Amino acid sequence: MRFDTVVKSGNVVTPAGTFVGDIGITGETITALGLDLDTDGAKVVDAMGHHVIPGVLDVHVHLELPFCGTVSADDYRSGTRAGARGGVTTVIDFAIPPAGGSLADAADLWMKKADGKALIDYTFHICITKYQEQKDQINGMVERGFTTFKEFMIYESEGWQSDDRALYGTLEKMRECGAMLLVHAESARILDELIARHHTPELMKQYGARLHPMTRPNFVEAEAIQRVVQWSEATGGQLYIVHMSTGEGADTVRAAQARGVPVIAETCVQYLVLDDSVFEREDGHLFACCPQVKTPKDVERLWEGVRRGEVSVISTDTCTFTREQKAMWNGDWTKIPMGLPGLETLLPLTYTAGVLDGRISLEDMCVKLSTNPAKIMGLYPRKGAIQVGADADLAIIHPFHRLTVSPSAMETNADWSPYEGWDLAGFARTTLSRGEVIVDDYKVVGREGRGRWLPRTSAGLAGSPSEPKAMRISRGPLSPLRARDIERAVRA
Ligand SMILES: [Zn+2]
Repeated sequence: MRFDTVVKSGNVVTPAGTFVGDIGITGETITALGLDLDTDGAKVVDAMGHHVIPGVLDVHVHLELPFCGTVSADDYRSGTRAGARGGVTTVIDFAIPPAGGSLADAADLWMKKADGKALIDYTFHICITKYQEQKDQINGMVERGFTTFKEFMIYESEGWQSDDRALYGTLEKMRECGAMLLVHAESARILDELIARHHTPELMKQYGARLHPMTRPNFVEAEAIQRVVQWSEATGGQLYIVHMSTGEGADTVRAAQARGVPVIAETCVQYLVLDDSVFEREDGHLFACCPQVKTPKDVERLWEGVRRGEVSVISTDTCTFTREQKAMWNGDWTKIPMGLPGLETLLPLTYTAGVLDGRISLEDMCVKLSTNPAKIMGLYPRKGAIQVGADADLAIIHPFHRLTVSPSAMETNADWSPYEGWDLAGFARTTLSRGEVIVDDYKVVGREGRGRWLPRTSAGLAGSPSEPKAMRISRGPLSPLRARDIERAVRA
């Protein structure tokens, strides 16, 4: 068999196990896995001594988002270039209707932002901001290929907030049409009250950016997760908790999944590698994101959730603001543009803190960064795994080679990084998107605008709560390598 490209001699992670061998690519698709594949006339990508893993799906990003009185600084050009350098080959952003606009307007607006700029493939979650006006538009959006929706329990001032009536009604609709609702879960009224109590010149002078974590104690998230999980249980509608940051949230989700509630949880990598001591820093305001990073105890509980399964997905909530934008706070924490850069460091952080530090296996990492997000967001088996028939989306990473995080050497438009000076392994030496090399020798070489919109027909793990299927993956290298292992990998 002849191939257009052969990725040669890598340590290849597949759903059927990990083996040292080759990947044959024809056009945009993986057409063979095996040993000593025919390289005649093929472009050869040498992966000797490297891990070859499925391209990462970052299913929670905000590119060019109008937010907090400004616009997030990474657009589809810089954001997807940053992603590619971090082995990300698919992003899912959140399309938000303009004031008075419909769900279709939101999709059209975000299509325009991505068109001609995206280097990698993309789609959007559709945000429901005015349930009463938009509820009858949901079915039409599903027919158009959007199967995931989003509601915010906070952000009244942005005009995005959903109340319990909206959450309940939307979850009913999700059940009817097999779609899934993503929810930003924080308790709005309590949060408003805590912010109002602390919003005095004296306290702001005394505590500065530390008021951000002080006004968002864990119960603000915990109560909201409990409440919306209750609505999922009552309606049977598929629920996905975005950016879960607390141990209490993980406890609630675990217990709900055990009862059969169709709830799935995502955390973001910052909640696994940072804690609230960052707000003690002189530049602590830079670290404000929403929800904020929590305590070391939460960090450990979330890792436990990643290992045991109640945390199904690791993403970034990328929402980049520059130092100049962050300076808008001027001593008032309620005016800090909230968000962190993230696409470029998702894989390096998860690989370094997760795999190299011994918290999870290489295979588990691929489940959380690729396979689960693809399955849950309705993109599997096209995306999310190295197997015959899938898009040839691959990240090739050196097992130990570390790069020092330095904003000036990165693709993101951020002029700072939460991880500046950290030595991280796991940056992509090579990234392939649909068979095309878009990162070579750690540099972006792909053409912007080549990324494609991905229509979808399903979402969630309908009928099977928690993550039974996606978690089943055979462990460790198959050694010595046997022909039938390869065969199993090929058939997977
Ligand atoms: Zn977000």
